[in-house]
This record gives sequence, C-alpha cells and structure tokens, in this order.
Amino acid sequence: MRNIFNKIRNFNKSSKTNTVSTAVKTPIETSPKDDFPPIKLFISVDQLNILDKKDDTEDREIESKKFLNKKKFKYLDKDAYSDFEYEFEEFFIKLGNAEGKCPYCNKDCKELPSNKSKCLSCSQEFLRVKRPQDGKDVFIKTEEKDLLSLQWENVKDPDLVERISTEELEVVRQELESHGREKYTVYDAHFDLLKKYTPKALLSGRFRLYTSLIYYLAEHDRYDRKFTKALTYYFYVYYLQLNGASNSVVFGDKVRVNPRITERISSLLNMIDSRATDCKGIFEYAIRKTTVFENENLPYSISQAYEYFVNNYLEKEPLQGS
Ligand SMILES: [Zn+2]
Repeated sequence: MRNIFNKIRNFNKSSKTNTVSTAVKTPIETSPKDDFPPIKLFISVDQLNILDKKDDTEDREIESKKFLNKKKFKYLDKDAYSDFEYEFEEFFIKLGNAEGKCPYCNKDCKELPSNKSKCLSCSQEFLRVKRPQDGKDVFIKTEEKDLLSLQWENVKDPDLVERISTEELEVVRQELESHGREKYTVYDAHFDLLKKYTPKALLSGRFRLYTSLIYYLAEHDRYDRKFTKALTYYFYVYYLQLNGASNSVVFGDKVRVNPRITERISSLLNMIDSRATDCKGIFEYAIRKTTVFENENLPYSISQAYEYFVNNYLEKEPLQGS
C-alpha cells in the first residue's frame, strides 16, 4: 500500500503547481439524511477496464492534478496507531490449547469421545473449535467463544472485484510466485492488480472508484492480519464516502457511507473491545496520513467526519469475560 502513496507523492513532486478553488460541488449544510442512498462500494472489472482506455483521460487528468499537487510530507504522531497495533496483537491471540487439556483445570481430556466436551474432573463445559492463527483444533472456555468468532470474522476471505476473471488472477499469481520465493494466493494476485489501478483511478479523477479500490486494498490487509493498517484504510474510505466522493472529479454527492464499511470497522473494534470514542487519535491519524485531498475544503473536515462517525456508530455489548 505504501508504494501507491509514494507513487502519488512522486507524481506530486513532478507536477506543476495549479491553483484550485474547490473540489466541492454542493457543500452539505446539514447532516446527510438516512434516505440518501448508500454509496456504491463494489465495482466490476469493467470499471477497471475503463481506466485502461485513453479517450477522455487527458482532460480528467488535468482536472484531477489540480487536487493532488499539494501533498506534503508532514510529521504525524504515530502513538495512536501503535496503541491499536498493540491491542490487535493482544486480542488476536491463540485461544485454547491443542493438547487436549481442559481449558479450566488443565486436566487431560484427550480420551473424551469427540461429541463430549465436559471435563470429568472439574465438570466445566468447554468448546471444541478450530482457531484461525494455526488452524489447529483446540479446546476453549465457553466465555472465549465471542472473541474467537470475531477473530474468524476478521480474517475471512476479502471481497473481490465483481466478475474479475479467475484465469487472469491465476496468471498474476503465478507471475508473482515466479518472481519471489513466497507462496502467493489468488487474493495476493487480486491485491497486486488493484494496487496498479488505484493511482490510475485517482489521477483520472474517478474519486468514487478510487475509494472502492482503497476498500479492496483494506480488505486484503485485513485478510493478511494487518488489522491496524486495514482499520486506517477503512476510516479513510469512510471519510471519502461521507464526503460524497464522485466519479466526476468532485465531492459532495448526496450519498451515505456504505454499511459494509461500518460493519468492517465494528468487527475490528469489537475484537479489541474498543469503542468509537476510543478512535479519535487513530481516525485523525488515518486520514491525515493517507488523504490526498488535504487542501480541499471537503464538505466534512476530518474532525467533523470523526464526530459524525461517533454519533452514528452502533456500539455492541462488551465481550463476555472482559
Ligand atoms: Zn476441567
């Protein structure tokens, strides 16, 4: 992901300075209403193909460059980010034990028939599950069940661009593998492909498409268990969607944030037992670090976007046993 933003930064360095009044089509005075349609999140491969065509891209690029030429390197305090990294490490722990021991009293329960999960020694019921970190079958305490399902929720397969060809992904996958020593999955190939399209979407002024691509990149980070990074990109998507990122080089479309984004954010926050009000630091860090529209007067500033997020976020019940 960092490469994209480096590319953008390099691009910015080389572009001439233009002055732009504003990217905002119609500033939103009041909060967007619930009846605004959710912004479309999923894209199909046809939309990526548009980016390969030349036609009107030159005009779009001129327009788009006006927004993107001012990103400057700035020191940002990374404390909030590091705190979240620590939390994710803390909560994405391997639960249970694979040695067939009772998770309560440590008594050997290997001899229990596989349909029984009550310890003969302490009479506690436990659960037989598979854990995501190593795929091992383990015994866990019943009160660890919620955390385990959130762990699974956060490593589930990433969303893919609609109608993307599996043959094409397989070709990219093999290419990746022939260049590296690692094992690559089709999801890695998908990620690689999207990384190439993200700057294209941005530079051609298709900000909504760009936003969707950031979502898919975040999906891969999540799947890759880079939860803090994923969270920051989901926040960035939230900010862009709330601001009504549009495909015609403007902001301020009357749309609301796609529910999938808040769903992803809340799965991550619930896993680490965090609330929206704990996220001020990381939310602001996420946007400041990634935004390429920092000098634009978007309908919602970063702090307004955060406020909106807090006011519209549905808190879940705290995790059992915490
Ligand atoms: Zn026991």
